[in-house]
Amino acid sequence: MKSVNISQGESRKSVLVTGGAGFLGSHLCEQLLARGHEVICVDNFFTGSKRNVEALLDNPRFELMRHDVTFPLYLEVDEIFNLACPASPVHYQHDPVQTTKTSVHGAINMLGLAKRVGAKILQASTSEVYGDPSVHPQREEYWGNVNPIGIRACYDEGKRCAETLFFDYHRQHGVRVKVMRIFNTHGPRMHPNDGRVVSNFIVQALTGVDITLYGDGSQTRSFCYVDDLIDGALRFMDTGDDVVGPINIGNPVESTIRELAELIIQMTGSRSQIVYRPLPSDDPLQRCPDITLARETLGWEPKVALRQGLAHTIEYFDRLLSGATA
Ligand code: NAD
Ligand code: UDP
Repeated sequence: MKSVNISQGESRKSVLVTGGAGFLGSHLCEQLLARGHEVICVDNFFTGSKRNVEALLDNPRFELMRHDVTFPLYLEVDEIFNLACPASPVHYQHDPVQTTKTSVHGAINMLGLAKRVGAKILQASTSEVYGDPSVHPQREEYWGNVNPIGIRACYDEGKRCAETLFFDYHRQHGVRVKVMRIFNTHGPRMHPNDGRVVSNFIVQALTGVDITLYGDGSQTRSFCYVDDLIDGALRFMDTGDDVVGPINIGNPVESTIRELAELIIQMTGSRSQIVYRPLPSDDPLQRCPDITLARETLGWEPKVALRQGLAHTIEYFDRLLSGATA
């Protein structure tokens, strides 16, 4: 069912979130429901889980559907947030062919749906489209430096092809698109075994095992807290049809991975030792978003500092590991 007016000037929309049972998707579903919308959450539960949206299941405006976005989907909706795709290197390299299919066939199917019903559609793209960047910090005009045949290519090139499809559906068919380039984000409901650096380090620190630093730890990332990220996504979706992006959404405060390890050890009071492991191939050496465009276009910038965000994420994993419900 498409939108209905719920009060003066306010419109309840029917919103599809693909990958809605994942880390970011579950927070997005929550925020959309809090704004009074109808939410259809589509997921094949490859990396996400019902548990992430358990608290939403009793809400009559929430619907959970098991579906793989590489197959067509017929629904009537006003807006689509296309998040379905494994996001951590360990998960997306597990079945790389399926990763590319999810990005590319998933984009084609969701864009086809948007075209048929006239919905707005936002793509969860990624800083990985910049590859191992030779321009720093990364601005949206930078075309990137991606190895097309490496082990990260299934994700990087899949997401780049999805961006191409979004812009071609926009130019060729007039589909209302928004392309958001997400930089490393952390927070509650990250998968404890997804191999991403924040979850790995926190779980290792809390369980007292060695902290695995890949390379010499001098590579950099910039970590955004999930609430800031979702705020950016919602603001972007609410912009006019002329705002298509791509727009970087991330926290421009950059840290080395060694600094992150030391901060997590300090914040958890852990006795874990840092051990060095080989740097995986094509691992980007530096990454930091230039968010000028997001500031100017969306009036958005992150509000949660790294230490504050990590405190929430540590608390989440502490509860999870002690067996308490998440
Ligand atoms: P996640 O793995 O927690 O969520 C992805 C969700 O997509 C999972 O619930 C998974 O089951 C689902 N999914 C995977 N393949 C599917 C398919 N074929 N059909 C239906 N559902 C499928 O990851 P996340 O961190 O929440 O990432 C969400 C999106 O944001 C992804 O598209 C990712 O590329 C993008 N992104 C995330 C980050 C980050 O730091 N978290 C950074 C850049 C981009
Ligand atoms: N990393 C690390 N130890 C780990 C996991 C990751 O040193 O246990 C490093 C990884 O090599 C990369 C950075 O942390 O340089 C971020 O990795 P992540 O997998 O979180 O995301 P990426 O930004 O590489 O996609």
